[in-house]
Amino acid sequence: MSATDEAHRERARKHKAAVDARIAAAQRDKGLLLVLTGNGKGKSSSAFGMVARTLGYGRKAAVFQFIKGAENVGERAFFASHPDVIWEKCGEGFTWETQDRTRDIAAARAGWDKACAALRDPGISLVVLDELTYLVTYRYLGLDEILPAIEARPPMQHVVVTGRAADDALIAAADTVSAIRDVKHAFRDGVRAQEGIDL
Ligand code: ATP
Ligand code: MG
Repeated sequence: MSATDEAHRERARKHKAAVDARIAAAQRDKGLLLVLTGNGKGKSSSAFGMVARTLGYGRKAAVFQFIKGAENVGERAFFASHPDVIWEKCGEGFTWETQDRTRDIAAARAGWDKACAALRDPGISLVVLDELTYLVTYRYLGLDEILPAIEARPPMQHVVVTGRAADDALIAAADTVSAIRDVKHAFRDGVRAQEGIDL
């Protein structure tokens, strides 16, 4: 073995020992709060990946979509009829296109009330609050109401919040936070949303 190979092997051995020690030290189980934010693509689709993982263990998941998007998105077609999934499009939802703030607030409130029921149900392993951050940004719902409901959930229940511009208080409360950076997006190159990728 050359000196370079030897050095490489020694570095790999030390790295493995360090990783093994960290794995051995992480022995705790806990219901996690995850926040997926940032301007890049991949927040909601990552949350739906965790829904698939949860179902793979025979556990239940609940998804609340707070923004009215396309009706026939692939994730809804796939998951909504699954017996272990609760899938709620929250009322009409609200969009940047609606002009009726009172109606938007009522829809947000109705959706949040349903989400609160899931956040009290220990039979649900994963709750996805998709695009929840916009309710805070637009002041339709306050974090003073959202955070206590999330914090009072069953101890082993995981919660994923998605949406751009997550508030600092939400980030502080979370266990795992990813801010996805927008490096490139095909949309800016004139490519419309692609089935299976964007919806
Ligand atoms: P996805 O659902 O694909 O994981 P996302 O949840 O990270 O996306 P959203 O802001 O919720 O992002 O936007 C949802 C839709 O907008 C998707 O069709 C997605 O491809 C598209 N999109 C996301 N980020 C960008 C971007 N930076 N530029 C243009 N379109 C975007
Ligand atoms: Mg999204």
